[in-house]
Amino acid sequence: MTEATARGLCEFIDASPSPFHVCATVAERLRAAGYTELDETDRWDEAAAGRFFTVRAGSLIAWHSGITPNPVPMPFRIIGAHTDSPNLRVKQHPDRVVAGWQVVALQPYGGALLNSWLDRDLGLSGRISVRDRDVRGGVAHRLVSINEPLLRVPQLAIHLAEDRGSVSLNPQLHLNAVWGAGDRPRSLLGYVAEHAGIASGDLLSADLMTHDLTPSTLIGADQDFVSAPRLDNQGTCYAGLEALLAAEPYDYIPVLALFDHEEVGSTSDHGAQSEFLRTTLERIVLTSGGGREDFLRLTTASMVASGDMAHATHPNYPERHEPGHLIAVNGGPVLKVQPNLRYATDGRTAAAFELACRQAGVPLQRYEHRADLPCGSTIGPMTAARTGIPTVDVGAPQLAMHSARELMGAADVGAYAAALHAFLVPE
Ligand code: ZN
Repeated sequence: MTEATARGLCEFIDASPSPFHVCATVAERLRAAGYTELDETDRWDEAAAGRFFTVRAGSLIAWHSGITPNPVPMPFRIIGAHTDSPNLRVKQHPDRVVAGWQVVALQPYGGALLNSWLDRDLGLSGRISVRDRDVRGGVAHRLVSINEPLLRVPQLAIHLAEDRGSVSLNPQLHLNAVWGAGDRPRSLLGYVAEHAGIASGDLLSADLMTHDLTPSTLIGADQDFVSAPRLDNQGTCYAGLEALLAAEPYDYIPVLALFDHEEVGSTSDHGAQSEFLRTTLERIVLTSGGGREDFLRLTTASMVASGDMAHATHPNYPERHEPGHLIAVNGGPVLKVQPNLRYATDGRTAAAFELACRQAGVPLQRYEHRADLPCGSTIGPMTAARTGIPTVDVGAPQLAMHSARELMGAADVGAYAAALHAFLVPE
């Protein structure tokens, strides 16, 4: 069984304000469990058997290939998820002075519910790239996380709105943050460099984003719900991590594959449309003594569970949901099917996940999007096309997807992790 809990998810999320921090949080847990990090630029000769992971920017792949080298390489059972969430990101020249306010220029990343970012006390996190003559290429990359109320995007007063009650937001004009008063220009990057303890001239570039500082918590009369940012998709990153940590290889090598850039289409050197997963799987086969023929043979016997959060039926908008497929909060994991392949599930892979839920002893809910509404997508169809591995799209129910503050069922955390664990180690 896994050790996944709703409170464990809250701690995971609060430690992980950016995709880079998701990888760092996962890496810390993996190291504590005996996993060894492999650098992609090294040879992996020593990695014939054991617990390993590798990180490429905001993406991470971890696997457990057994205690001793296996002369007959095994196929894979893979949990896929994404590390990124919609948010507001810092522009390259962020510093402005407007009407006596010191302003930081921001822009939306992914399909954020923009209104949810207003009037929140925001911190700053991400990765900075720093001049370092001691490393190859002369650049070192470091994570930064400023968990103090630094920034705020203030709402327009209702008395000043053109149409009282509904203020429309222009992403260029209306999402910049205030962080000081006065006409004196102030450098945000200078502030970050000082926070990081480096000379501002050594700060070569930065990937910075904002996060809401309200701690994740359990809410409701019986604390039935998790109230948190980034449940989509750190809810799956956490459940998948707990599933992997509890998994031993038996008939399959269990793998956790976490990708950045899902919210913006996954087309990057380390998104789900990259070669990252396929080449890592091939290297696992090669280092364990198999050949390319083995790799090609084993991928077709493998399967991916693409985990991403699902839409619980909203009590205020029940008519927005497909009436024959209502999804209950705390009702168990969700199987997502969409015949036009916004989800990768088909009958073969749906059957495997149904069996996983039976093995875990949790109910399975079946989701269909209304045919008259556009359906979102996941990494599932992309990893399936990239690797040739049959894929099932699954998730846990939530409300307020892409809000700065989302909501899911507390009991669904453990049930989701248990189903993913059973998928990794089918009986
Ligand atoms: Zn998602």
